[in-house]
Amino acid sequence: MHTKEKFFINGQWVASKSSARIEMFNPATDALLGTVPDANAADVDSAVSAACNAQAAWRNTPPGERAGFIEKISAGLKARADELTDIVATDIGMPRKMGRRMQVGLPIGILDVCARHARDFSYSEQVGNSLVLREPIGVAACITPWNYPLFQIATKLGPALATGCTVVWKPSEVAPLAAFVLAEIIEAAGLPAGVVNLITGYGHTAGEALVVHPGVNMVSMTGSTRAGARIGELAAHSIKRVTLELGGKSAAVVLDDADLEAAVRATVNSCFLNSGQTCLALTRLIVPEARYAEAAEIAKQTAARFTVGDPFDEGSKLGPLVSAVQRDRVVGMIRKGIEEGAELLAGGPDRPPGLERGCYVQPTVFGRVAPDSTIAQEEIFGPVLSIITSRDEEDAIAIANNTAYGLSGAVWSADMQRALRVAGRLQTGQVEINGGAFNIEAPFGGYKQSGLGREMGRYGMEEFLQYKSLQLPA
Ligand code: NAD
Repeated sequence: MHTKEKFFINGQWVASKSSARIEMFNPATDALLGTVPDANAADVDSAVSAACNAQAAWRNTPPGERAGFIEKISAGLKARADELTDIVATDIGMPRKMGRRMQVGLPIGILDVCARHARDFSYSEQVGNSLVLREPIGVAACITPWNYPLFQIATKLGPALATGCTVVWKPSEVAPLAAFVLAEIIEAAGLPAGVVNLITGYGHTAGEALVVHPGVNMVSMTGSTRAGARIGELAAHSIKRVTLELGGKSAAVVLDDADLEAAVRATVNSCFLNSGQTCLALTRLIVPEARYAEAAEIAKQTAARFTVGDPFDEGSKLGPLVSAVQRDRVVGMIRKGIEEGAELLAGGPDRPPGLERGCYVQPTVFGRVAPDSTIAQEEIFGPVLSIITSRDEEDAIAIANNTAYGLSGAVWSADMQRALRVAGRLQTGQVEINGGAFNIEAPFGGYKQSGLGREMGRYGMEEFLQYKSLQLPA
């Protein structure tokens, strides 16, 4: 049992002042995993006070020294990578093999990039008679979701520490276990007391108390659009800076000259990654009408390769969804797709054969999905792909942009100039061209209701800084 009673505040493990507890469950077995405290306003106040008190010394610590601490945290993650892979597999259900690379390897890479940028970032420049300074915004409240728990904090913690901000972190109440290990790593790295503080709790309790706290200067949140909107509303009362990385309904646009086999395979793989619980998953596949039958067949065959099973089983490619709530929601969406008249090409609402317990769902592919239907519009956050047909290039672009979201996308064409032209017209924060790989140095974030601000690389650092102009005499 993982029963946690203490928070990491001001460099020490201190008992929560709250009596409320949150239960965690193993999504592969439905068994109770343990409990964590639901922080109350007094806990939040202790954590924010510690971060405020640590601010002045941390912002004055030379960037090279701050970079050294980030590197120690990265080294700590490396040293405990196997343990963390198991914790994430237990807490959210991602199969270990993929989890090692994505859940632990990527955060290590992100922190290393931040350490490098901390050293080479230019914190001042001369503009005419002004000296323009970049200063840390202060105390950053970092609120993260459950689907990539270490990745999502690395994209906030790295730039916050690099720029001289101090942090209060509230991970998701659904999968908080990896956060406690990271806090131990931070403690072992010897960061000054109060620079990073960890509390746990629900969004509507601990999360809201953190967002409205007068000592917090900025909120950096990753999660659903619904929660992001609420955070923006609360933060507005005290004019706090807010950066939001939110949901998506990203489309892969396959043009008539594309390598269909490669395009469909890559899209199915993207859609099903982490059981579909990935914000930038390509969940809509837009193919020319004339190539639909071929695309549907390739998608069916690719989906059949996704063996569903225990995340600790080497043969599993698809683990359970994170919780029973999430499974019921996804199964409801699969039923909705059938009701709405889409063609069910693979999967369906029933449990995968042989898996009588746990939050498993079948990898599901729908064909001939109407662009305005619920499953084509709403973020499902499960392994459910919608194939939509287009009349021509213009129609494909219009369908891709016909969503409230704008996080990611893809374009496939044999003609690079054509692919770039189409990518330029997609209203989305990133676009993969013919399977171009994810890049942790490139800005990451959303257009429209997918977010505000950018993470990753030096772009992520900008969000934690503010300008100050010193007008100098002639
Ligand atoms: P969620 O919005 O329910 O929770 C995310 C975090 O916000 C949690 O820590 C939660 O406790 C907190 N929270 C919720 N309501 C709050 C409130 N009123 N005040 C303060 N904090 C609050 O999201 P989730 O279910 O954990 O994650 C899934 C969602 O996250 C999906 O929509 C997914 O697309 C999105 N996501 C986006 C990105 C991205 O970078 N764009 C990355 C991963 C996940």
